[in-house]
Amino acid sequence: MSVKERLHSLQKQINEVCKECNRDPSSVQIVAVTKYVSMETTKEALDAGLVHIGENRAEGAVEKWEKLGDRGTWHFIGSLQTRKVKQITGKVKYLHSLDRLSLAQELDKRIDDGHVMKCFVQVNVSGEESKSGLSPEEVVPFLESLAEFKSIEVVGLMTMAPFVEDPELTRPVFKQLRVLRDKVQSLQLQHAPCTELSMGMSNDFKVAIEEGATFVRIGSALVGRE
Ligand SMILES: *Cc1c(COP(=O)(O)O)cnc(C)c1O
Repeated sequence: MSVKERLHSLQKQINEVCKECNRDPSSVQIVAVTKYVSMETTKEALDAGLVHIGENRAEGAVEKWEKLGDRGTWHFIGSLQTRKVKQITGKVKYLHSLDRLSLAQELDKRIDDGHVMKCFVQVNVSGEESKSGLSPEEVVPFLESLAEFKSIEVVGLMTMAPFVEDPELTRPVFKQLRVLRDKVQSLQLQHAPCTELSMGMSNDFKVAIEEGATFVRIGSALVGRE
C-alpha cells in the first residue's frame, strides 16, 4: 500500500473515532513518524499531504531536514542528548521529549533570540523503568522552573503508553495525562499554556484520541517500516 492509501485509511479511522466521541477531527494532528523509513518514503508522505514529520534521532532529523526541510513542520520525538541540541535547533519546531532542566538550559542557550521551541514535557505516567519522562508529581515544579527560559514554550504534555496487545489497557495512562494537562492549564502559566496532548501511536491512537490526544505520532501504520 502507498502512503497515500494508508493516510486515507488512517484519516477515515480518525474521523470515525472523533464522531463517536464528539470531537472535531481537525483537532487531531497526525505526526508522521519517519524514523524507520527512507528519504524517498518521507518525501512520499509529504506528497500525500502530511505536514508534521517526526524523527527520534538527531542525525535522522537533520539528514531529512536538509533535503525536505522547507516542505514540512519538524518534530523531534526521541530522547535528546544535551550535546545534540545544537544540531536540531533552528530546524525542529516541536520537541516532544523535554524531560530535564539541563536540556531546557541547553535549548535556551542554543535557540536564537526571539525564537521559541514548542515543547511537550514528557511524562512517564506508567512508571515503567524503561521509559523516560518525569513522574506525574514532578511536572508542575518542573514547569515552574522553566519560567526563566524565554525560548521555551510548553505547548503540552507527551507520554508513551506501555506496549500491550489490547490497546484498551492503555486508557488509564492517557486519561491520567489529560487530567494532568487540565491541571497545568488551570495554573495559567505564561510560558506553559499546555493546551496539547501528544499521545497515541499506531497501535493505540484510537484510545488516545478518545482520551483527548491532539497530536498522534504514527509510524508503522502510516509510512510502514523499511
Ligand atoms: C517510533 C515512535 C512512534 C511511532 O511508533 P509506531 O508504533 O510505529 O506508530 C511514536 N512515538 C515515539 C516517541 C516513537 O519513538
